[in-house]
Amino acid sequence: MAQQEDVFKKIVSHCKEYGFVFPSSDIYDGLGAVYDYGQNGVELKNNIKQYWWQSMVLLHQNIVGIDAAIFMHPTTWKASGHVDAFNDPLIDNRDSKKRYRADVLIEDQIAKYDEKIQKEIDKAAKRFGEAFDEAQFRATNARVIEHQQKRDALHARFAKAMNDNDLDELRQIILDEEIVCPISGTRNWTEVRQFNLMFKTEVGSTAEGASTIYLRPETAQGIFVNYLNVQKTGRMKLPFGIAQIGKAFRNEIVARQFIFRMREFEQMEMQFFVKPGTELEWFQKWKQTRMAWHQALGFGAENYRFHDHDKLAHYANAATDIEFHMPFGFKEVEGIHSRTNFDLSQHAKYSGKKIEYFDPETNESYTPFVIETSIGVDRMFLSVMCHSFEEEQLPGGDVRTVLHLPAALAPVKLAVFPLTKKDGLPEKAQEIINDLRFHFNCKYEEKDQIGKRYRRMDAIGTPYCVTVDPQTLEDNTVTLRDRDTMEQRRVNIADLRGIIEDEVSITSLLKKLL
Ligand code: ATP
Repeated sequence: MAQQEDVFKKIVSHCKEYGFVFPSSDIYDGLGAVYDYGQNGVELKNNIKQYWWQSMVLLHQNIVGIDAAIFMHPTTWKASGHVDAFNDPLIDNRDSKKRYRADVLIEDQIAKYDEKIQKEIDKAAKRFGEAFDEAQFRATNARVIEHQQKRDALHARFAKAMNDNDLDELRQIILDEEIVCPISGTRNWTEVRQFNLMFKTEVGSTAEGASTIYLRPETAQGIFVNYLNVQKTGRMKLPFGIAQIGKAFRNEIVARQFIFRMREFEQMEMQFFVKPGTELEWFQKWKQTRMAWHQALGFGAENYRFHDHDKLAHYANAATDIEFHMPFGFKEVEGIHSRTNFDLSQHAKYSGKKIEYFDPETNESYTPFVIETSIGVDRMFLSVMCHSFEEEQLPGGDVRTVLHLPAALAPVKLAVFPLTKKDGLPEKAQEIINDLRFHFNCKYEEKDQIGKRYRRMDAIGTPYCVTVDPQTLEDNTVTLRDRDTMEQRRVNIADLRGIIEDEVSITSLLKKLL
């Protein structure tokens, strides 16, 4: 675990050192849970967004995109339930004065039981070797059974307290489980209180005329309030989807784990409108489609899992998370929710407008049901970084830091180096870039010896480097070096585009989805 924390710290500093992610307002020592993307970060982020957008809008003829404003009519948030219920339960430790989410403290405690069980299993697996039967061990080992029972009881009690919104019970669980503050080590807890996560601001220039509005805590509502506009102007037939990428804001109680939990972040959401009664079938379909999208990146199926929700939001009839194996455990990257007709019905009620679909096949009107897929760009970025980062031991004892980014997501696709700064080599290198820059992102580097230049490119995940040397001037060939294998081969300049373009294009990823 400590080792994993170490790796995570290295990833965070790597992100800063190589222009991926900076703390916001860095010269003023940053702002909690707000980050800026640097010169390489923005390219990687844009590629992630493009991969998502194209997988939705290009690959599905019945999905279209929109770009709604961040500011919305305040009634939107009354109708959606966010004004009354977009809360997290918070608790303070009186000694450390630190604030926590009560639900997260309890979830961590559940995870501790899971770890204990896993430890017993790992120990036994080692002892019994080949003959080990995990299912039998789980069913018969006294210690495992005891941990499992405690875990399940805690889990059931927690789920009930969350469903009932029972804040006293949440506090009681924390006391009964003897959960201590990680900073002070004490159990001196305050009451549990609800905290609304929406940021407020005002529109209008005079105090009297101003009205309170919110920074949107999710992009989804921008889609719901545009359902009629898009359905009518696009003449969309059910089932159809509306996709959107945009900023969302939440005043998170605890800012933890770098860009995993931010106060300003970006979401990629798609709301898929379906005929009532077909929603669970579509829910299953979208679960599979979204998992395939993640796995096409090649990070290994074992690093993903579904986590079905115990606590369903009052409007949902099914919900699951796609979790990714981060250095700090399996964590939610995307949520897939069957939201019934809740949002559209609420907006119909609050706006007084009829928000329905006329089904030409059955000649009836109804409010569509909705399946939502909602993924955080920043969490996706973090999962890509975590999986790609490696401090690789090289045969000579050297260590190189390399980002094994999927080529289609890499900020720079090709670096071109003149071996020396003279004899026309820089000009030849520029010529190559001038030719290829229309097709993919190229970078020119002439400083330092070639080995150092390779390392700098490895550190930002550039899949290919080309070196221009005196022979190039004679026969128009260059050395092409592969980031992952570090192998070098001599190729014709004329062949470069053909070798590289397919490999580094988003299309290469999209084709895996078909
Ligand atoms: P969590 O339980 O971690 O707070 P959530 O269940 O509230 O997340 P959703 O409301 O389902 O999250 O939002 C959909 C997606 O938006 C999440 O899967 C995540 O990728 C992203 N997201 C949500 N909150 C944040 C945040 N504070 N910072 C970065 N990304 C976020």
